[in-house]
Amino acid sequence: MAAPLYQCPKGTHDILPDEHLYFSFIKKVVRYHCRRAGYRRISTPMFEDINVFVRSIGDTSDIVEKEMFVFESKSGKKYALKPEGTAGVVRAYLQNGMQQLPKPVELYYIEPHFRYNRPQKGRYRQFHQFGAEILGESDPAIDAQVIYLAHKINTDLGIADRLTLQLNTLGSLEDRKKYKEDLVNYYTGKERSLCEDCKRRLHNNPLRLLDCKEEDCQILASMAPKLSSVLSEESKEHFRLLQEYLKELKVPFILNEQLVRGLDYYTHTVFEFWSKKDGAQNAIGGGGRYDGLVELMGGPATPAIGFAAGMERVIEYMKEAGIRPPNKDAVDVFVAQLGLIAKKKALPLLNELREKGINTVGAVGQASIKSQMGLADRIQAKYSLIMGQIEVQEGTIILRDMKKGSQETIPFEGIVDKMVRLLGENKLKNKKLWEE
Ligand code: AMP
Repeated sequence: MAAPLYQCPKGTHDILPDEHLYFSFIKKVVRYHCRRAGYRRISTPMFEDINVFVRSIGDTSDIVEKEMFVFESKSGKKYALKPEGTAGVVRAYLQNGMQQLPKPVELYYIEPHFRYNRPQKGRYRQFHQFGAEILGESDPAIDAQVIYLAHKINTDLGIADRLTLQLNTLGSLEDRKKYKEDLVNYYTGKERSLCEDCKRRLHNNPLRLLDCKEEDCQILASMAPKLSSVLSEESKEHFRLLQEYLKELKVPFILNEQLVRGLDYYTHTVFEFWSKKDGAQNAIGGGGRYDGLVELMGGPATPAIGFAAGMERVIEYMKEAGIRPPNKDAVDVFVAQLGLIAKKKALPLLNELREKGINTVGAVGQASIKSQMGLADRIQAKYSLIMGQIEVQEGTIILRDMKKGSQETIPFEGIVDKMVRLLGENKLKNKKLWEE
């Protein structure tokens, strides 16, 4: 077959129907747990004024330096496709006066994000994240609850036992300032052993030297002074309480003093869910506290914490674990018909079955019964209902159990109710599908 004329852009991918089963399932689990815990859903635009990201994520972070899709409007205004969720949520929080709402304000999102990075397995230019943010409360019990929410979602998706929760504290903004000085002192004179990126980072974002993946940089990082040595008593207490709460909630974690996260805005708690197999390489998500961000974006001082996870990576883990999401698209009934009068009866029958919540497909073209039944087989319909001229005249219909291969002729009257009973009252219960 000749190569198609057009391909989707590099680093993007089509989500085909089989893949959507995973996305739908993940969304359902996320929505379920977020709602139960009082979070409400928010969506922000796919693009924002570029300064929303530069200001919040920090102009020395990898995302802002290298990974944003930036474009200009005709009037010359600069925008960027959103590379992460928190900056837009904070912008929306302030713009919509949400600081007036009772605290804490709990929000969640499920959205596509965009990063201009080198595409590889598990790394795309358009990817999907779900995430949650709690604004307006600084107690470490909130940190524990946010982490619990992420852990619970991982558990229900069946992937928690493939992950480790890495936990660290970055202390307050003052602690970090002091620590940065210590780091610069430690690295000064050792620049020659650093990679090019780290040489640059030493001057504009020394904390990032700690999570560089280059071997030589990692050796130096392992001997660098620890942030724990400069933490204030208050920061230590926050972190100590968080660990106690996590133990109460039975969320296992590993303390990792080198975990810093890529973004500038974090303070105190930071965490990531790493692969037990590949460590940080294939992290599925992470987050942390960002007590200074709302103020930095022009709002009142507002403590906050959040997390985000990548859905494509979650799906990879689910597949590795052999987890198959329920197939809500599975066809329950196939309606086959032959001849004009049968077709006239089949059309309303299709609709009546669908209105009862039964997934129903009908071949209403001109095909022979044989080819219609071939189609019913291919789409793996559970039952077929078959009608020709004779059945219509006799007021009957043929019901075929596709798995068993058996069939019987039964009265047409009451066929919808019979199918409802056959397919299990439980599944159907006349529930509107959009209400789930
Ligand atoms: P981050 O805030 O950068 O740690 O991103 C949170 C999660 O989003 C990561 O752990 C990944 O699961 C996912 N993610 C981030 N960037 C990408 C990408 N380029 N492609 C696919 N998933 C990504």
